[in-house]
Amino acid sequence: MFVIMLGAPGAGKGTQARMLAEALDLAHISSGDIFRENLKNETPLGKLAKTYMDRGELVPDAVTINMVMDRLAQPDCAKGAVLDGFPRTLPQAAALDEALAQRDDRVRLAPLLDVSDEAVIDRLAGRRVCRDCQAMYHVDYSPPEVAGVCDKCGGELYRRTDDEPETVRNRLFVYYKQTSPLVGYYFAHSVLKTLAGDREMAAVQADLVDAVRLAQSG
Ligand SMILES: [Zn+2]
Repeated sequence: MFVIMLGAPGAGKGTQARMLAEALDLAHISSGDIFRENLKNETPLGKLAKTYMDRGELVPDAVTINMVMDRLAQPDCAKGAVLDGFPRTLPQAAALDEALAQRDDRVRLAPLLDVSDEAVIDRLAGRRVCRDCQAMYHVDYSPPEVAGVCDKCGGELYRRTDDEPETVRNRLFVYYKQTSPLVGYYFAHSVLKTLAGDREMAAVQADLVDAVRLAQSG
């Protein structure tokens, strides 16, 4: 059972993917985790990726694809996985399809967490992270007891540069240009399932689990 989480940055893909993988006892594959692991362990692919990153260049699709394929070959992915952050481009999606076909499998479901641009900017711009323990807050939806101070450790809360409204608009632009074509791609493969992402986390998760069960029986 291979599930591809789709949605703009800030749509809640990461959290939902982790919960879904746990609920279904599947591996959770996050492209961010895979990158960090390869860099930390200084694998050949990690070292290769680093040469691009050090030059401020994008890591080519081929390197990313190889990292993910290595991960998919591990035993915990035998029953399937929930992928989050990969594929991010059409060539990556095609490479994944090819790899899965080789093991006589395919993508069974691609849920799209649909959240408006305004909501994305609002969610990310209000996010605050603790400098010391990395705990996450939101100025409106989950504020700390004292503004600017972490409830857990008393550390200072700050906004990541990634979450500044200007940067978020740019991330959205990259998403529309590079990743949103995947919506059409998976629609054409009859596995797209659009879910309203602007709801309570638990409600979105319940719909996701239902969608997977339906796809499993189909
Ligand atoms: Zn803290």
